[in-house]
Amino acid sequence: MKYFPIFWAMGGRTVLVSGGGSMAVAKLRLLMKTEASVIVFATRAGKDIQVWADEGRLRLIARTLRASDLKEAALIYAANDAAEDNERAAALAQAEGTPVNIVDNLEASDFITPAIVDRAPVTIAIGTEGAAPVLARAIKADIEERLPTNLGLLARAGKVFRPLAKRLISGRKHREFWAEYYSETGPRTVETEGVEALPVALDALLTRHVNAEAAPGRVDLVGAGPGDPDLLTLKARKALDKADVVIHDQLVAPEILELARREATIIEAGKQGYGASISQEKINALMIAHARSGAHIVRLKSGDPAVFGRLDEEIEALAAAGIDWQIIPGITAASAAIAQIGQSFTRRGRNASIRFITGHDMKGFAEHDWRTLSRTGEVAAIYMGKRGARFLQGRLLMNNASPDTPITIVENASRPQARIRVTTLRGLPGSVADLTGPAIILLGISSRHAALAPRHEVQMDRAL
Ligand code: SAH
Repeated sequence: MKYFPIFWAMGGRTVLVSGGGSMAVAKLRLLMKTEASVIVFATRAGKDIQVWADEGRLRLIARTLRASDLKEAALIYAANDAAEDNERAAALAQAEGTPVNIVDNLEASDFITPAIVDRAPVTIAIGTEGAAPVLARAIKADIEERLPTNLGLLARAGKVFRPLAKRLISGRKHREFWAEYYSETGPRTVETEGVEALPVALDALLTRHVNAEAAPGRVDLVGAGPGDPDLLTLKARKALDKADVVIHDQLVAPEILELARREATIIEAGKQGYGASISQEKINALMIAHARSGAHIVRLKSGDPAVFGRLDEEIEALAAAGIDWQIIPGITAASAAIAQIGQSFTRRGRNASIRFITGHDMKGFAEHDWRTLSRTGEVAAIYMGKRGARFLQGRLLMNNASPDTPITIVENASRPQARIRVTTLRGLPGSVADLTGPAIILLGISSRHAALAPRHEVQMDRAL
């Protein structure tokens, strides 16, 4: 983040604008919405500015800016049509240490003005660090459409009511009260009875929430999917939106954690693969303790929680403690991997079943039905298979698998840094040796690499 968005108090402050042309007009339209006093310096000012000056909405001084003008200024906009005038104004501001924005000159500016969605006191600022103004405008249009026009009004009424809402003691009750006000009670009241009815409606809503019994804590065991936030289910998103506590595995992508409610406590538990860096008992104890305090917990696991996720142990602990739980499934890494290479797990005439197997378990390399896996046409997705690649190869060859059995490895499936390696059973150990990210080994399947090559890094094993 090259620019940090903040909201700067404008009451009682002065903002200077150097320039009287169209550039200045565009900034003035925004500045006049604030509580700041606005002074425009321009030897020639456009008609709009003249009118605003006559209406007393700004002061117009018909000369260029001088150093002595800057004494009381909080901010200055260099918004002249000519670049040399902006340079002069900016030099004065910089000499005085006043933050300056030079219109159309991002590099030399101290601050930039975002695109703004105005539902004051709700204000949304959209910035792209100058990279994509068109995108900023498109996002603005999208948000404008989505937010009710009377949102500002609801927020102002809500603000007045805030001290009274302190009667709700727990953070959770607070949230539930305000969520119901903004999503239902508020809009409905304004629509049917008008703004004047809001205080009474808020009062009734508060009484109902104060008297409501606190909901008991509970745990959602949620699949975070393979990494791409778009592959999260809607149900998972909703759970993240409401959670008080998020306990996640290390493999869960940071972009997904970003979707958690901002006030949520985020706890990282466990490292890649099977061995947990904080013990399973500790994770269970953590969930139970938070749930007993009435929290809504999201236990976030990569992929699908029911695939190599030690789900049963957690469920059994929760059930024994009498805590409510539910499973929210996710897209497992194997599904993301097979999609990444444009293939299907099953195919008529080739295989009528698939296996999800693990390369190793807590005891070491995992044993499987190698005889079946070694047959031509068998398909398996191997999780946590990197370390055991040589063992896997040995077991399969021992059971008469062909060394030419196709193998595709997908590292970081669904993530921007995804890599695909196409090899055979012969080349398997060599192909995984340098991989550092999570990887799925697909046995018996080759990539439709030719079609995918332009989009993904596909590496063919030279031994092929
Ligand atoms: N519950 C998870 C699996 C957890 S075990 C799921 O359903 O996907 C961890 C293993 O999953 C990793 O060692 C790796 O083999 C695999 N994995 C997880 N995310 C992956 C990804 N984005 N790309 C490839 N493999 C992944």
